[in-house]
Amino acid sequence: MQSTRLDQLRGPGRAKRHNARTIAALTGNPGCARRAVLDAAGVDKVKLAERVGFPGSFGQSRFALSRGNAFEAMLKADDCALLRSVLGAASSLSYQDLGADSDDTLGNRHDRTVELLADARAALIDHPLLTLDVAGQTVYLEPDLIAYAHRGRLQVVEIKSFAIVDGQADSAKVSAAAVQAAVYVLALRSLLERLGQDPSLVDHEVVLVCPENFSLSPVAVKLDVRKQLSTLRRQLSRLASVASLIDALPEGITFDLALPAEELTVALGHIEPRYAPECLSTCELSVYCRNEAAGSTAVLGRPVREALGGIETVDEVLALADGSRSPTEEQAEAAALLRAALRLRSEALS
Ligand code: SF4
Repeated sequence: MQSTRLDQLRGPGRAKRHNARTIAALTGNPGCARRAVLDAAGVDKVKLAERVGFPGSFGQSRFALSRGNAFEAMLKADDCALLRSVLGAASSLSYQDLGADSDDTLGNRHDRTVELLADARAALIDHPLLTLDVAGQTVYLEPDLIAYAHRGRLQVVEIKSFAIVDGQADSAKVSAAAVQAAVYVLALRSLLERLGQDPSLVDHEVVLVCPENFSLSPVAVKLDVRKQLSTLRRQLSRLASVASLIDALPEGITFDLALPAEELTVALGHIEPRYAPECLSTCELSVYCRNEAAGSTAVLGRPVREALGGIETVDEVLALADGSRSPTEEQAEAAALLRAALRLRSEALS
């Protein structure tokens, strides 16, 4: 894909880079062309949502961010002393911090990551830079983690600031962390494959390091991400090629954030969304897309949309239920269920 076309789509702003969270969100809604195109072009969706008048409160709070940064800095201080102890890693294991180098160009950092991983003596690797093919586009991943060689195997370590209290943690946060870690496992495995090494050297068990109880003392737990890996692989293979989505857009379309809101809204209208209530927790444009989808069955969630296959709007649903509209052949089954549901509701209320 020509980067000039992506630059034109984004406008003069700096490109936002993909990360494990955006890939997890993308694969969570593989039918959404809008997100795929905006992410490929690196459009700042938080600012875009603000410009079109639908800002959302998305992302971590400042408090959570600073707590997370403090926790990570504490773990990595003194050559990762605390992290080594919680991982049970030997103090003789070397520590390589790629993020601390002055040369911060992506290509060079990725090359250094490759060199370290090609070296069987690789040890704790901080700020590695990996790549993954997403919808025909190679994206860089800057994991906030350490991959380390442990008894000949590479393990992904994910540091999170949410607490594990009495052995329990917020299940939504744990499952989001597991999907993100699975993205890194996938990227590491594809890198080993390119190096001609055995990809199964990357463990399907990742290590999650979190604060324990109400302190900042770390605790490490292992998560098996095999299920997340197979879902990710399947969803990534289902993502339409971004290049073909972009080729289908009208010439000259751009999301330059300096444009008036009306022009940006028109531009958004050229790319097919696929709104679902899950977007509210995964996509920065969710408030805009929810408003746009108002009145459609999609707003009610995937199970409802699937049960009402072929019926696009709530008005149509109501009309089919009260018989004021005749169903098409493919709507007949859903229409019969809707009429029965309305009858039961009327009986229950009378
Ligand atoms: S909020 Fe909109 S752009 Fe984002 S994934 Fe959902 S439908 Fe796609």
